[in-house]
Amino acid sequence: MNETIHTVGDKACPVCWEKFPRSHLRCGGVVHAQLIHDNPEQGILVDFKCDKCGEELDDYQIYWQT
Ligand SMILES: [Zn+2]
Ligand SMILES: [Zn+2]
Repeated sequence: MNETIHTVGDKACPVCWEKFPRSHLRCGGVVHAQLIHDNPEQGILVDFKCDKCGEELDDYQIYWQT
């Protein structure tokens, strides 16, 4: 197992997936994105979690600033 360490409060978190992290509008925290898998059989699965309020967000249900 290699656990990816996200930096709390870092809006330029280097280990986040794609264009993350993003701001969590509801609490002002930072939403980190962890890529779980990305392959042809299973597709792309990403976990989103706010580092401030701890809310886990599902795909496309994130309230972020663009
Ligand atoms: Zn991160
Ligand atoms: Zn939050």
